[in-house]
Amino acid sequence: MSNHIFKLDECTANKIAAGEVVDRPASVIKELVENSIDAKSKNIIIEIKDGGKSYIRVSDDGSGIYQDDIEIAFERHATSKIQNIDDLSTISSLGFRGEALASIASVSKVEMITKHLSSTIGTQTKIHGGRIVEKKEVGSSTGTTMIVEDLFYNTPARLEFMKSVQSESTVISEMVSKLALSNPSISFQFINNGTIIFTTSCSKNALNNIVSIYGKELAQSLVQIHEVNPSFSLEGYVSKPSYTRGNRQLQIYFVNGRYVKSKVLYDAINEVYKTLIPSNKFPVCFLYVTINPNDLDVNIHPTKMEIRIKEEELLKREIVNKIKDTLFQINIIPDFFEKKNSLRSTNIFEKPLSKSESPENQSHIVPNEQLIFEDNSIYITDNKILSESNQKKIIDTKNQYQNIDYTDKTDNNDNLRVNFSNMNLIGQAFQTYIIGQDNNKLYLIDQHAAHERVIFEELLASYRQNSVVSQKLISPIVIELSYTQFENSRIVLNDFNRIGFETEIFGNNSFLLRSVPVLLGKPRAKELFLDIIDNLSLLSTKNEFVVEKIIMQACKSAIKAMDSLNSIEMKELLRKLSTLDNPYTCPHGRPTIICLTKSEIERRFKRT
Ligand code: ADP
Ligand code: MG
Repeated sequence: MSNHIFKLDECTANKIAAGEVVDRPASVIKELVENSIDAKSKNIIIEIKDGGKSYIRVSDDGSGIYQDDIEIAFERHATSKIQNIDDLSTISSLGFRGEALASIASVSKVEMITKHLSSTIGTQTKIHGGRIVEKKEVGSSTGTTMIVEDLFYNTPARLEFMKSVQSESTVISEMVSKLALSNPSISFQFINNGTIIFTTSCSKNALNNIVSIYGKELAQSLVQIHEVNPSFSLEGYVSKPSYTRGNRQLQIYFVNGRYVKSKVLYDAINEVYKTLIPSNKFPVCFLYVTINPNDLDVNIHPTKMEIRIKEEELLKREIVNKIKDTLFQINIIPDFFEKKNSLRSTNIFEKPLSKSESPENQSHIVPNEQLIFEDNSIYITDNKILSESNQKKIIDTKNQYQNIDYTDKTDNNDNLRVNFSNMNLIGQAFQTYIIGQDNNKLYLIDQHAAHERVIFEELLASYRQNSVVSQKLISPIVIELSYTQFENSRIVLNDFNRIGFETEIFGNNSFLLRSVPVLLGKPRAKELFLDIIDNLSLLSTKNEFVVEKIIMQACKSAIKAMDSLNSIEMKELLRKLSTLDNPYTCPHGRPTIICLTKSEIERRFKRT
């Protein structure tokens, strides 16, 4: 190196630092919104154009910034949130490194309008590439508006690094949704290319916010979870098993008010639903977990989404039990004519707004508090920022406000458990379906699915009590396997034995099968065992659920043929179902029972 050492000028240093703080439009928005939250705002508007690349606006009604502090706010390591190192241990605010504004301003064109609550006049400041180009007094209400235009215009490499408008918009929308859900006492409005995407109320009612963001249909399929005990509290909503999605995107967790990604919590939900829904489907949940801060590992960076929880297995167990209890107390039977799950994407930019998303239809969720900034001449009259039609929409929705609370809708009296053992048996159809009736409902029960569930639960229970009864084969069967199959099964040989498949290693890559569990009925022992082993290779044998998976597979393989059942057999099957926590799905998540109400039949026959 032949060059001398120079100290980078402030502006260049900021640009370099900006790479760490802001790497895409969503991170700009996150920093700005967190500043608004720290400023104790009650209402926050986030507006973007072109995926935030050309235009980002975050307006709040928080404390505002003192006129004298405006310039320093844009300098690096300038913060009002800590003064010395000791403050770090007590800080509750979201940002304190004092880097965000400096970083954002160095790589974009920023316009800030702010008025501190102690001041009578606001200030408008324009900063391009980190340099103040204009500063003047303007009329403004208390709070701060940050407009960030042409992000990365002076850093071509980063400009190029941004993804398409569509994908930046998606990332932003998901992030804003989570910010809104994790701050239920603040009203958020999100506007994309001039259209209001959602407005949440500050009613502190999580369900209302879910309705606002994800629509009424999803919200109607949710069941409320509520558990408060000395070690933790769990609040929120999970979907009924009849409503599933194709991925995990709508499994959303907050721990102590912060949106997190946590393997334990994902695992908990998986465990609850693993035999309730097909394995390629995912439930939806919005869960707010509150635990003692001392039970959170503090070594994890506060802005990171990953967290570590002490005693996580215990917490998981309690969460699983609570959700199961709640789900099994309600009626989760699908309807004959149940509509297909909403295929509506969470990516709200993919297609034009659906009915429930359009601002007119959100009248019920607009907060009863005054809508934001209606007194703020700068914003309402400035068509560049808010188009006239949107102003009108905002005013309209405000006038139509009705206080609809969705909480009641999720558990009406129809949600009682089915009384399997007292149901009136009508007969059997197609040698497959049991037909039953009670007061005002007709039921179809898939006898194979039901039988599978019954056997699964019985086998699992006797496995747990170490009391599986097995039936000796007249002569043991040699089962030859491939090397991988053999290795996979060898690890779980013990589990096989405990489930009732008495097996021993028999030379190279072979087992000797001596007995099979009685519960599985007349055994086609070899096929059954091979079937299980074939499917075993698909699962990781380290998985703690391996026994359940073996049993699940065993039940599936055991019950295949169509059977005509006599009424005693049918009654016995129903009686057994009635004893189960979850009689509603087979172990693989298919329904065991569907239902048709009398009123629906009457409607179909045009009697009503
Ligand atoms: P930090 O948030 O880490 O303190 P920032 O660069 O994000 O650093 O902001 C610098 C300072 O500017 C903050 O400490 C705060 O005093 C002030 N500030 C920024 N945004 C707002 C806002 N929306 N409302 C009130 N004050 C703000
Ligand atoms: Mg900040």
